[in-house]
Amino acid sequence: MSASHAADFSGGSHHDALLGLRDLPFLKDRYTVEYLWLGGNDGDLRSKTKTLEGPIRRLADLPSWNYDGSSTNQAPGIDSEVILIPRAIFRDPFRATPADKERHLRDEETASGADVTSASKRGPQQGPAQAALASVSAALRASAPPLDDSKALEDGDDLGAPVLGGCRNLLVMCDTYTPQGDPLPSNTRAAAARIFSLPHVAAEEPWFGIEQEYTLLDAKTRWPLGWPSGGFPAPQGPYYCGVGSDYMYGRAIAEAHYRACHYAGVDVSGLNAEVMPAQWEFQVGPCVGVSAGDQLWVARYILQRVCELTGSTVVTLDPKPVPGDWNGAGAHTNYSTRSMRERHLGGMREIERAVGRLKNRHDEHIAAYGSGNERRLTGKHETAAMSEFTWGIADRGASVRVGNETYERGCGYMEDRRPSANCDPYVVTMLLAKTTLDVSDEEALAGSKGHDRRVETDAVSDGGESSASSSARALGGGLVG
Ligand code: ADP
Ligand code: MN
Ligand code: MN
Ligand code: MN
Repeated sequence: MSASHAADFSGGSHHDALLGLRDLPFLKDRYTVEYLWLGGNDGDLRSKTKTLEGPIRRLADLPSWNYDGSSTNQAPGIDSEVILIPRAIFRDPFRATPADKERHLRDEETASGADVTSASKRGPQQGPAQAALASVSAALRASAPPLDDSKALEDGDDLGAPVLGGCRNLLVMCDTYTPQGDPLPSNTRAAAARIFSLPHVAAEEPWFGIEQEYTLLDAKTRWPLGWPSGGFPAPQGPYYCGVGSDYMYGRAIAEAHYRACHYAGVDVSGLNAEVMPAQWEFQVGPCVGVSAGDQLWVARYILQRVCELTGSTVVTLDPKPVPGDWNGAGAHTNYSTRSMRERHLGGMREIERAVGRLKNRHDEHIAAYGSGNERRLTGKHETAAMSEFTWGIADRGASVRVGNETYERGCGYMEDRRPSANCDPYVVTMLLAKTTLDVSDEEALAGSKGHDRRVETDAVSDGGESSASSSARALGGGLVG
């Protein structure tokens, strides 16, 4: 992170002065909104900025937008317009002004008890009847006919206080449509939202906690951060959850990312250094349904932006960044339904049933769990071989692990260890729900054509129902190509 490196691509030697301009006073009614979406190249993130007049308090206050799909491998040049539909709002940590930050703090202090349906206040210990009611009402909203913006606004009114606390710099995760209103083939979110809004899926309130592993590389050499140039560090052993500058490379980046995600409203539940030096992990969740994908994609976006600021470090989600005796990078996906979480609804029995279904569809899942994953799932380095589905209690060499605590309590969640670090979380979460909750292909495809742009989980994305975690109140909540 030397100054000379910073000069390479972060704005020249005036980098700090340029950043300082962010703190200029802002105009009262100007909002700055960064629209994020997935491009057409296996999960490339794109974003652009729109200045809007406020107030913007919720998703429905944000207009649709468009971009040039011929530049993202998503449309032919002759008919290149792609429509962006806002789906989940977050605070923008990169443009936050001192005023934004103060608002944020005040907002949290007075955090309204208004969002009583929030999953963040609803743990497994809560009565199932109450939780079922909330979930059914979410399902009803989700499967309602297309709403125009004014109706969506009314829908948000019962949420009480504005969820963004007046913050004027925002990020918004969007999905992508043709001008005729059909989701693009790369719009995996639309397919996921459809499955999560099926009433029998929504009633099970699927929770996901995704462990995102990533590797930091020197931008010039493309070799892991802190490794001897052209050589290797001491063998794996001291690095996992390690401490000390002999072993820890890039902690400042991992920490900055963690703080930025919390500010944004992403429910990062923790972070740790990984087995391979220069490899890190953060966990998002537990989140309900499609918001797991929204939150993980926004967390990845924030990670890319944090790395941009260093001027000298890049991040890779490659499943096996260094071949040989070095751990790969995955995205273990922890998953539960209400029936798994509650013993009287099935608990461990329901988990075993789900595992059986996953076994039957192993190949389908593997094909959708990220590209290059065959380099990682070798059967070594805490992975199961790709060719065979296995599961076990506390077994880190299995495809699916059930933790000791879940086994002993007789209820809880499972961990699908197969997804690669570069997987599309919309696809992984959608497939887990589809397979384990027995969604037929017909149900999965129903309503996939036509103007369903406003159908589905807006209320979930912007009503604080996006998170099952008690630690933070969320705002925002195929493979691509
Ligand atoms: P590991 O022991 O595999 O490293 P982590 O602590 O890194 O596990 O991640 C576990 C993840 O599982 C966290 O994101 C956590 O929020 C999530 N989680 C916890 N309980 C549940 C649940 N009932 N359903 C789904 N995910 C859960
Ligand atoms: Mn972990
Ligand atoms: Mn890990
Ligand atoms: Mn894990």
